Amino acid sequence: MAQEANPFESLQEQIDDAAAYLDVRDDIITRLKNPERILETNLSVEMDDGRLELFRAYRSQFNGDRGPYKGGIRYHPNVSRDEVKALSGWMVYKCAVVDIPYGGGKGGIVINPKDYSESELERVSRSFAKELRPFIGEDRDIPAPDVNTGQREMNWIKDTYETLENTTAPGVITGKALTNGGSEGRVEATGRSTMLTAREAFDYFDRDIEGATVAVQGYGNAGSVAAKLIEDLGATIVAVSDSSGGIYDADGLDAHAVKDFKNETGTVSDYEDTEAITNDELLTLDVDLLAPAALENAIDGDLANDVQADIIVEAANGPLTPEADDVLTERDIAVFPDILANAGGVTVSYFEWVQNRQRFYWTEERVNDELERVIVTAFDNLVDAYEKHDLPNFRTAAYVVAIRRVVDAYKSSGNWP
Ligand code: GLU
Repeated sequence: MAQEANPFESLQEQIDDAAAYLDVRDDIITRLKNPERILETNLSVEMDDGRLELFRAYRSQFNGDRGPYKGGIRYHPNVSRDEVKALSGWMVYKCAVVDIPYGGGKGGIVINPKDYSESELERVSRSFAKELRPFIGEDRDIPAPDVNTGQREMNWIKDTYETLENTTAPGVITGKALTNGGSEGRVEATGRSTMLTAREAFDYFDRDIEGATVAVQGYGNAGSVAAKLIEDLGATIVAVSDSSGGIYDADGLDAHAVKDFKNETGTVSDYEDTEAITNDELLTLDVDLLAPAALENAIDGDLANDVQADIIVEAANGPLTPEADDVLTERDIAVFPDILANAGGVTVSYFEWVQNRQRFYWTEERVNDELERVIVTAFDNLVDAYEKHDLPNFRTAAYVVAIRRVVDAYKSSGNWP
């Protein structure tokens, strides 16, 4: 088997690809390809049986030229220093492409949360919050949910931070429960931006999304919400999957019912009257739209040769390797990149933070309207750059727009010392 692409190298390659079309000095590009600082820590946490267990954890602050560092915290056994670096860099360009006033950061703990009790997870989360405390803050670095984390973990981290700081600071973290200063619409926001990107993409290519066939790889928060909202536009979801495999039905699955089934059983597999398929089979189905919504490197150069979808929207971060990008560009398959297609999550995090700072809360309708405006504007900026500079693909277009915004912020504030 080919060696897995290193996500940090993928990020650097994506930046280089765009830099070729930008009039920016090499030394500045080098700066934009490397994180400013990384916290690496070993959390020592007491287990329910009294034993101590060590958990490696990271927080990477990649770039703060446009505002406080912003990005999620992931709990996964495959978390690594390079993965966190890459994910923090993607956040920089994601926030820039949708033009919200943040830099980029990301954190992660090497842990499989399924192996631990709720009280153990609470102690792990609070221990990480204690380590993070000097680095984060409402105007410094603002974490959020990512893979295997959600409102529960955000509430614990907020509570630990506020207790240690002896203050209230709900804007120190986003993705909280509504009862703890969360925002309406935040849970659905990532999948909503995937739906909006798909809708705009079909419109751009003069195609009807109503009746289009769709496959979604990954049925966590991003994938399941994207599937439900794309289905609501009248598309037919023919296949979905999770880490244990996929299900296929040429006549269309009921995306809402499949999510209920996964909530009950823990997986989409064995959903009634469907055919079992593998993740690779799903990714190579002959569909109009494919949405990878799981982890990095889902499609490599080899698999890209077999992809039959016409349009790809990336709900996950980094699901295509640079080789896959090259193959798909060559094959004229349109890829709408993660830094646009899943940017709804951080955009509504920004709305949550604004609401927290103002102590004034919005309706769900207002959140969704503002989100739509942000994503549609970003989509339009991206296709303008794509057409104007005759760029090879939409990812490069997104980076051209985003890098330019970061460089403008950097140059106008100057270098110190
Ligand atoms: N983890 C999400 C992402 O990758 C959300 C980050 C945030 O809300 O800050 O975009």
